[in-house]
Amino acid sequence: MRSQDYDRIFLSPPHLGRHELNYLHKAIEDNWVAPAGPNLDGFERDICDFTGAGHCVALTSGTAAIHLGLRLLGVGPGDEVLCPSFTFVATANPILYLGGTPVFVDSEADTWNICPQRLREAIEDRIRKGRKPKALLLVHLYGMPAKVREVLEIATEFDIPILEDAAEALGARYDGRPLGTFGAVGVFSFNGNKILTTSGGGALVTNSQEWAQKTRYWATQAKDPAPYYQHSDVGYNYRLSNLLAGIGRGQMELLEDRVKKRRETYLWYKINLQSVPGLTLSQTEPAGGRSNRWLTTLLLDPAQTATTPEQLRLHLESHNIESRPLWKPLHLQPLFATAPMYGGSACEELFAQGLCLPSGTAMTEADLQRIAEAIKAAVKPTATT
Ligand SMILES: *Cc1c(COP(=O)(O)O)cnc(C)c1O
Repeated sequence: MRSQDYDRIFLSPPHLGRHELNYLHKAIEDNWVAPAGPNLDGFERDICDFTGAGHCVALTSGTAAIHLGLRLLGVGPGDEVLCPSFTFVATANPILYLGGTPVFVDSEADTWNICPQRLREAIEDRIRKGRKPKALLLVHLYGMPAKVREVLEIATEFDIPILEDAAEALGARYDGRPLGTFGAVGVFSFNGNKILTTSGGGALVTNSQEWAQKTRYWATQAKDPAPYYQHSDVGYNYRLSNLLAGIGRGQMELLEDRVKKRRETYLWYKINLQSVPGLTLSQTEPAGGRSNRWLTTLLLDPAQTATTPEQLRLHLESHNIESRPLWKPLHLQPLFATAPMYGGSACEELFAQGLCLPSGTAMTEADLQRIAEAIKAAVKPTATT
């Protein structure tokens, strides 16, 4: 560690509680150092208890969970999958693993998630071309619930199954119900910077017992029920370690508390940055939605401030404060250059004007003050000549 790391404010670092070590300790004492064991069963139970999902399978990452989830929905070579452009690449990579093609859709301005109107246009156009999408990836960006009701209506009308990428949205709700439980399959991530972490990890939830069994089977090299090693299907090594699941058990105890703290952080920024010219804390909750505010995000309106998000980021960096650009839209990525895109200006504008602020739950009032002062010093109004 460099000496300057001591006072660095990170974007969203791990925040451990007091019980993770107990679960780890027990696993080592009992020799459950394997991708099986009591912590794994307990972690899955904790996730089911919290979300109300019927079944949960803990996996090595959220990306692995999306991969197996899309496979459950029958996505295979040549299939098209609807996906918001404004998301992390991990949402769409598994479409490629399966030989499919993403069909990207623009965002709406309130939640920044998939735009229901553009979604309908995309589906109707793909059907006209004789290429009905096989599945829809519904992402809740930065923990903000998408317009779930509208999206569900469209998906039901066209009979397209939903995989909910709630990797950033554990603990967020819609109509009082936890996100991740609205699709046929839901996915969570426990990567190092998420609201809860196991250092690396993921989970798939579903109400189908058959699908949960199939997911466990695929995640453990697809071993057929025979006394010897027999395989009739392609499998993966995707099962979470019982050690990491122990960290997950300790973390799950803290979930409501962490959501509360992230929401308070958002509110603090909103109150304390309201006088900054051209700066808004934009993403707004849809009717019925309750975000976990995983990351607080801001927009800088170029009509009102001469400061760009990149200038602000560099200024914060010079004060040893980490901030990050919003996700670069996937339709702008070289990797997806040939994928179809419906709309695009909304998410391109968000990307050009936005920034993610430090949102870690261990931050103090003094940390927040330091960040707000640095922001106020950096953001200048446009010259009025
Ligand atoms: C983090 C993340 C993932 C992937 O989760 P990993 O556990 O890192 O593999 C998927 N989708 C979104 C939107 C994410 O933010």
